[in-house]
Amino acid sequence: MGIPMRQAIRVGSYLVRQKLARREKFALTLELEPLFACNLACAGCGKIQHPAGVLKQRMPVDRALAAVEECGAPVVSIAGGEPLMHPEIEVLVAELVRRKKFVYLCTNALLMPRKIDKFRPSSYFSWAVHIDGLQERHDASVCKEGVFAQAVDNVKDAQRRGFRITTNSTFFSTDTPASVIEVLDYLNDELDVDQMMLSPAYAYDKAPDQEHFLGVTETRELFAKVFADGRRKKWRFNHSPKFLDFLEGKVDFGCTAWAIPSYSLYGWQRPCYLMGDGYAETYRELLEDTDWESYGRGRDPRCANCMAHCGYEPTAVLATMGSLRESIRALNG
Ligand code: SF4
Ligand code: SF4
Repeated sequence: MGIPMRQAIRVGSYLVRQKLARREKFALTLELEPLFACNLACAGCGKIQHPAGVLKQRMPVDRALAAVEECGAPVVSIAGGEPLMHPEIEVLVAELVRRKKFVYLCTNALLMPRKIDKFRPSSYFSWAVHIDGLQERHDASVCKEGVFAQAVDNVKDAQRRGFRITTNSTFFSTDTPASVIEVLDYLNDELDVDQMMLSPAYAYDKAPDQEHFLGVTETRELFAKVFADGRRKKWRFNHSPKFLDFLEGKVDFGCTAWAIPSYSLYGWQRPCYLMGDGYAETYRELLEDTDWESYGRGRDPRCANCMAHCGYEPTAVLATMGSLRESIRALNG
């Protein structure tokens, strides 16, 4: 299965409205970062290197809601940092669910036991748990032993309580087809999560580990092998089929980062969640004052190895919407 039917229909009708209004650029998913602090310090992280004064800050709920309202995105991914360290995170999630936004709360899962009683299961809400591999691989990725086991226990507890679980796995050059298949099989078949997301690691210039990011050719080779022999079909991904085609090199796309904008303590990050070329005060200003043609692979050297969903999933979704055959394929998963 691809994304849930209710969400696919809602996002599809949102896209049709954008088309009827002849809007060329619009937000599909908002990456909201209401804080940068985290209780882990992963080697591949490009988010926790801000000055101590910034790491202490928490975005007020009203400010976060105003950003969501302004851009109009039907999907909101709350990231960070670790969002469960925000003292009013449950208020923010409840307000977004009340507005019928599809909310993904990205977490390393360690604080779930302390906070889970404050959340309610909903078809509009999913935990998005960071799991990069099985025990040894994941604990190495987050630079702390025991995190995988705790994350799995906390996911099982959330499942018992009726919550939807999505996982987000980031892959580096240290991964092999076998290690990726192993973790996806485990998450899909044993842990039985609702959906999985894949991220080829982006080469953050601030990340402590600068050696293990995947290049485009390596990413394509990795995913072509991972998806071979019919495996791709049996896994439940929170991605469009076209984006998976893109990862394994069957199609290529341009970057449409304006559709997955990033709003943080600093404002609207230009041009995307991964790169910071300054900030705009409003989404409109971000759209109008960014030279979008100068970003993407082949245009900006910093984009050379990027195959991240925040640049290319929207392009895949728009290509899907433009084709009846691809739309049926996406609904069938
Ligand atoms: S859990 Fe996420 S935000 Fe925290 S250090 Fe790791 S990658 Fe960064
Ligand atoms: S290709 Fe797009 S999403 Fe990737 S870093 Fe460049 S602007 Fe950001």
